Amino acid sequence: MVIQLARAESPPLYRQSRSDDCQLQNQEAMKYDFHSHSTFSDGTLTPTQLLQRAADKRVDVLALTDHDNTDGLAEARMVAKENGVQLVNGVEVSASWRKRLLHIVGLGIDPENADLASGLAQVQCARLERAQRMGKDLERHGVEGAYEGAQEYCQEGLLSRTHFARFLIDRGYAKDMKQVFKRYLVNGKPGYVSTEWAALEDAVSWIKGAGGVAVIAHPARYKLTLTKMKEMLADFVDCGGEGIEVIGSGHNDDDIRLTAALATDYGLLASVGSDFHDPENGRRELGHVAALPEQCKPIWQHNALALQGAH
Ligand code: AMP
Ligand code: MN
Ligand code: MN
Ligand code: MN
Repeated sequence: MVIQLARAESPPLYRQSRSDDCQLQNQEAMKYDFHSHSTFSDGTLTPTQLLQRAADKRVDVLALTDHDNTDGLAEARMVAKENGVQLVNGVEVSASWRKRLLHIVGLGIDPENADLASGLAQVQCARLERAQRMGKDLERHGVEGAYEGAQEYCQEGLLSRTHFARFLIDRGYAKDMKQVFKRYLVNGKPGYVSTEWAALEDAVSWIKGAGGVAVIAHPARYKLTLTKMKEMLADFVDCGGEGIEVIGSGHNDDDIRLTAALATDYGLLASVGSDFHDPENGRRELGHVAALPEQCKPIWQHNALALQGAH
């Protein structure tokens, strides 16, 4: 895939980053956001609305990375140009590593690739079966009609915990997302169902086979010890992974420093992603991403992205 940028510019100016008070990417540099969701997974904006918002937020390059699904990319591509936004084809694959859930972002993929499509179809089946079991488990804990209820929040049929969460909040079981994910849907709580996702090596090989680059999403969110994190990264690199989100959702300044150091140690390219889902959540706004620390090699230098002017 050859990506044409609307405007070619000199390479971005990097600064030491801060996350919470968010020294945003230099306004004169390109604004990249390599992680976002639409209604084709658990986002609330359609791909068209997402691209319009990216333009409003002055994002130059956006990856749409729906969970286990690439069906929103066609619509996103149709409207990207008219909004002056360069679209990168993406996906966020749910993967299992030593019985833990990891999210692997694939960037620059060909969504038509047969192995990727059949791999994602398997994960989608696991997801549907999990959703049915989640509904039953919630019923056992006194929450009626959660499976059908969650479907009402899900426009394109790919049910996720977020749809259950929205249903539970609107029915008064919790006051907000934070509270609902404390009381429900997580390990040991009602509505949690463990699932066998794609094996890590399969997720990476589908992405690579589809011409893309595999990136570990939001590594700090997995709450791994440093030893486990290093073991996970070693396995990820062994099976062909090439990138890591240094600026990822939920990353504070310490997480950014640690992830940047790990990226250097493991020879991984650094990605930036807001993980935007929903306009109500200002902390994860499109393009609201800190600058990469100077030592990082940015992901947009990878050939799979072939971004003009960013080499
Ligand atoms: P699933 O892929 O169906 O397991 O759902 C995972 C999604 O739930 C993530 O991509 C987030 O969008 C959302 N999520 C998980 N944990 C939390 C949390 N603590 N607060 C808000 N959203 C969460
Ligand atoms: Mn999500
Ligand atoms: Mn994720
Ligand atoms: Mn995500």
